Amino acid sequence: MHQVLNKNISPLKNFDIKKIREDFPILSRMVNGKPLVYLDNAATSQKPQVVIDVLQNYYQNENSNVHRGVHFLSDRATNLYEEAREKIQKFLNAKSTKEIIYVRGTTEGINLVANSFVKPRLNEGDNIIVSLMEHHANVVPWQLVCDEKKAKIKIIPINKKGELLVDSLHGLIDEKTKFISVVHISNSLGTINPINEAIEIAHKNNIPILIDGAQSVCHGSVDVQKLDCDFFVFSGHKICGPTGIGALYGKEKWLEEMPPYQGGGDMILQVTFEKTIYNDLPYKFEAGTPNISGAIGLGTALDYVQSIGYENLHTQENLLLKYATEKLSKIDKVQIIGTADNKASIVSFVMADIHAHDVGTILDQEGVAVRAGHHCTQPVMDYFGVPGTARASFSFYNTLEEVDILEDAVKKGIKIFLG
Ligand code: PLP
Repeated sequence: MHQVLNKNISPLKNFDIKKIREDFPILSRMVNGKPLVYLDNAATSQKPQVVIDVLQNYYQNENSNVHRGVHFLSDRATNLYEEAREKIQKFLNAKSTKEIIYVRGTTEGINLVANSFVKPRLNEGDNIIVSLMEHHANVVPWQLVCDEKKAKIKIIPINKKGELLVDSLHGLIDEKTKFISVVHISNSLGTINPINEAIEIAHKNNIPILIDGAQSVCHGSVDVQKLDCDFFVFSGHKICGPTGIGALYGKEKWLEEMPPYQGGGDMILQVTFEKTIYNDLPYKFEAGTPNISGAIGLGTALDYVQSIGYENLHTQENLLLKYATEKLSKIDKVQIIGTADNKASIVSFVMADIHAHDVGTILDQEGVAVRAGHHCTQPVMDYFGVPGTARASFSFYNTLEEVDILEDAVKKGIKIFLG
């Protein structure tokens, strides 16, 4: 253990953490007179220079609207925009670019599926199953459609370690179950869920299933064909890309059946006042001028993360998770919330009765950025009987030294508040 945690040892020979950090200009800035220690990666990741450059270059040299123009720039913007879609398709291993819908992010992707796929299939008395550890983005859209259709939501429970009790799906599913939606990795607990099992159980019962991949694509590769999920959604900003762009993967057979989510330009082939013919996939779901620069930036971000290599990324993040867990759990008055056996590099914790916001504020004074609060997972907080937690979430560009700074800042906070 000690040797692994020796800070002078780089986890893999071809992983140069110093060089990687230089790719992210923001990581060298100061905050409150201290070097920034950015441990809020589950909220949003930082952006490498290549992504910043591609955004600037787009607006400086290539800006134009897509699909509708015949001039040079429009053609160029369209090509870049569609090339980015191909990158996402390959990244998720979807069968075709028809299955990749640009959305604002995970939230919009789930709302699209809720309204376009599930709502038309839902009748009074039906039910949709989600888990107790869902982000509000994977709760409220289902509540909205269930309220409208007089349907119900059923909940897959978790245990005290924050693990999903996936077997309980067998008992929850009945003939009225129309859809299942489960998070891949919990943003507040770090738990990596057994989604393979959830998908298998769903399909044995002929129920389509969506996987919320907001926290998973940045921690490991995803193969939607292998998973065989019906829908998968993620946000670009959590994987080194810009905000306001993400992707919804859906099996082509479902997307073909679904009505458009929004109406407007680009999602049509022909409009008359009598009848409108919708565009082909994926454009049927992309009304209006899209986030062109965001899509191009996301494509570059995916290239960047893949160039780091998932093996390197895993090794570094697991090292950080182990080290931070070991350090924080040794501090008297600190309790880690979420101790699943299979975890991503997210450590949520409470410090005695100190309010999470106070913890966050104290850490901020030391330059340490963590998220404090309920993390948009209030049912999880209720389950653990806490109003909120402080959450340190690590990316491949974080270091063991930063964990030490977090540890010192936590100890300082305890001294200030508890004497
Ligand atoms: N699902 C999970 C698990 C998340 O962590 C988040 C954001 O933190 C979301 C959904 C919503 O993502 P976005 O706000 O990018 O739409």
